[in-house]
Amino acid sequence: MLIVNDDHLRRAGVKSLGERCNYCSKALAEYPLIMSDDAQTVYHVTCALQLAMDILTDLYTFFDPPAPYDRLFPLTTTSPNSEGGSYAINGS
Ligand SMILES: [Zn+2]
Repeated sequence: MLIVNDDHLRRAGVKSLGERCNYCSKALAEYPLIMSDDAQTVYHVTCALQLAMDILTDLYTFFDPPAPYDRLFPLTTTSPNSEGGSYAINGS
């Protein structure tokens, strides 16, 4: 959620702009801010973007690791004609 005024900030559970960002530990200081959907954690907009990039980079590296590392597991799909596939879908 985007936080752009004092009312939004109070509803996010933050008492003042003097509280610290959970990512960089600097004072929130000014709007706009971002509140995460899960834990009501408030970040600077740039910190929220950096955090999102960190997560995307970690996910990319996990699913497609650089050489000489191999993937931990292959990603596959189940064909509807494979054993058990159509049974599960049709329920008959
Ligand atoms: Zn920050």
